[in-house]
Amino acid sequence: MDCVFCKIVSGEIPSGKVYEDGEILAFNDIHPAAPVHILIIPKRHISTLSDAGDGDAALLGKLLLAAKNLAKEKGVADSGYRTLINCNRGAGQTVFHLHVHLLGGKGMGYP
Ligand code: 5GP
Ligand code: ZN
Repeated sequence: MDCVFCKIVSGEIPSGKVYEDGEILAFNDIHPAAPVHILIIPKRHISTLSDAGDGDAALLGKLLLAAKNLAKEKGVADSGYRTLINCNRGAGQTVFHLHVHLLGGKGMGYP
């Protein structure tokens, strides 16, 4: 499959990996929008959040818990951070492999 994040999972494309376990991988965004900008993805290809099923509840939970842990590790847990999932093109999704953005490290005002 021609998916850039699957290629990152397989090692075909290098990435700044910050966390990995059997099911998920986290790496630095290539175009950071904040001092800390990490993408957290399932290793298994799921195109969008809409393609996740009831059986993916634990996997989805792991993505968020990894975000929480990485926010702490990167020193932005207390100052504030944001997690974000863009679903489909109209919402800004450009890579169709499910990913959670973790953003932090500067004024994270609303929105
Ligand atoms: P989306 O707009 O789909 O929610 O987010 C896709 C993100 O993936 C963007 O922030 C973009 O900078 C990042 N990205 C796209 N290609 C690559 C890549 O090859 N390596 C890394 N590390 N990030 C990428
Ligand atoms: Zn993929």
